[in-house]
Amino acid sequence: MALCPITKMPLLLFTFSVLCGRSLSEKLVDLSHDLAADSIRWPTSRSFEHIEISKGYQPNGNWYEAYDVSFGEHISTHIDAPSHYHYAARTVDQIPVQDLVAPAVVIDIQAKAASEPNAALSTDDLLEWMEEHGPIPDGAVLFVRTGWGHRYHNKSLYFGTGTDDPTKFAFPGISEGAAQLLTGYADVSGHRIVGVAIDTASLDPGNATNLKTHQELAKHNIYGIENVANLEQLPVTGAEVTVLPLKIRGGSGAPCRVLARIPDTSDALLTTCPSLLVLTAAVMVMLLQA
Ligand SMILES: [Zn+2]
Repeated sequence: MALCPITKMPLLLFTFSVLCGRSLSEKLVDLSHDLAADSIRWPTSRSFEHIEISKGYQPNGNWYEAYDVSFGEHISTHIDAPSHYHYAARTVDQIPVQDLVAPAVVIDIQAKAASEPNAALSTDDLLEWMEEHGPIPDGAVLFVRTGWGHRYHNKSLYFGTGTDDPTKFAFPGISEGAAQLLTGYADVSGHRIVGVAIDTASLDPGNATNLKTHQELAKHNIYGIENVANLEQLPVTGAEVTVLPLKIRGGSGAPCRVLARIPDTSDALLTTCPSLLVLTAAVMVMLLQA
């Protein structure tokens, strides 16, 4: 029985997507914390206020709910625009949208962070990762998983102190040397890194005094993302992230939603089951001839 073109197209598209290994049921993971009065913020930053304007039934019988909000730029899961630490670098509204949809890679330093709170991602960590997983893809956001994300709802554990005194902060971060390797990476590999993200309150470790990592990344227009959530769900490679900061004109940063699109196991299924690949190709040929 010949299939009419209208019937054939969806079948072809389905078969083609399977043949390409393109997942039909990708997982979406939210890598962002919400905004609330208890959101983590840098001590100099204003806390989140949600001020009720109206909440209830109006005289005309309609429900009406609305609020004003007030908060610092560097609160909860947020982007550090390069202008945060370099006078001539991009503000948050100037970050090209092409840099906000990116392949994601994850480097895990949980083991050393467990024994040293101010542990920092090193150049050796980066080189070892590349030896195992290959080059960092062009246009990628590099996520540093320290394990600190689980402490987010306990401010004292997250900052390593019960005070707001930055000289007492203790949490993992990224070393200046690692930042230099990342900013120089495009020169040696042709692959540009667009952003660096971490599951702590700062890109620099808690005991850093001069925030050299922030400065190094900022002067190369590489943005940062701090207070990332659910980082344990992001695979080492293969995910794509969409980073959506508020488009504050001239902003040095902004709270942002970070979503990760993670392929399901269909890729693995096809690579581990060549007969399925052959069968799918055969179905596609049959459909084309029908
Ligand atoms: Zn920040």
